[in-house]
Amino acid sequence: MSSVVKALGSAMKIDIVTIFPDFFRGPLDHGIIRRAREAGLATIEVHDLRAFAHDRHKTVDDRPFGGGEGMVLKPEPIFECIEGLKVARREGRNEARESVVLLSAQGKRFDQRVANELAGMERIVLICGRYEGVDERVGQYLADRELSIGDYVLSGGELGAAVIVDCVTRLIPGAVGNQASTQQESFTTFSPTHAGDGPSSTCASGGLLDYPHYTRPADFRGMTVPEVLASGNHEEIRHWRRRTALEKTQRNRPDLLTQVVLSDEDKKLLGGF
Ligand code: SAH
Repeated sequence: MSSVVKALGSAMKIDIVTIFPDFFRGPLDHGIIRRAREAGLATIEVHDLRAFAHDRHKTVDDRPFGGGEGMVLKPEPIFECIEGLKVARREGRNEARESVVLLSAQGKRFDQRVANELAGMERIVLICGRYEGVDERVGQYLADRELSIGDYVLSGGELGAAVIVDCVTRLIPGAVGNQASTQQESFTTFSPTHAGDGPSSTCASGGLLDYPHYTRPADFRGMTVPEVLASGNHEEIRHWRRRTALEKTQRNRPDLLTQVVLSDEDKKLLGGF
């Protein structure tokens, strides 16, 4: 519903909290994100955490209680920064369509489903950790979710925040020229509620991987494009795309096959491999 609201004109607001604001100069200034910002579909602000440290050295980290390696980001500057952003209180945040996200290797996995959920928000705030991590009270009392972008350890949350901003922004209605294309891509479970204008040769991934794409030239150094794609036969092309999407999913991401409902035709196609 709120995506309808956004389609009518209110921009999605994204705030990023980091000790390296310059990090975001590149990622936010290209392609779809840049266009979405220029078109007023998304307003993105980067906040320097050090501005909320009040000692002479602008200290944002301290040694871990209990001993051990490294430093931990202190809670005070982060709480103060987020409070200054005037987001809804944690209890009412979901209702206000707002989310405060702590980037963390220990978080729930960020995926296309979560991206969709966040794209339906009016506002998201992304807190980037550094060093050994962030004082646990930030995740416990301030953020409403912890998200990890994958099972590996980064040196900071900035890359994760950039990944989330990219995925979410392209889902805002109007951000991508042809919105239907974002509904057909890998990992996306979208069921069209009405048939398109004419025969369609595309097929939605239905939560699997996308089908292979080709463009001209049809023959590149002897590497040829599958003939069916030039046949003009929409039904056959759609069939080929579904089969190759299933094939690629089985090869690269068999785990996805257990998470989606396959049609009888899909099962027949898969059985053929
Ligand atoms: N000691 C932590 C890692 C800290 S890495 C651990 O073992 O879990 C420093 C910061 O990088 C984290 O606070 C987090 O903000 C960010 N980060 C690291 N890996 C990440 C991941 N997979 N997804 C999102 N953020 C990550």
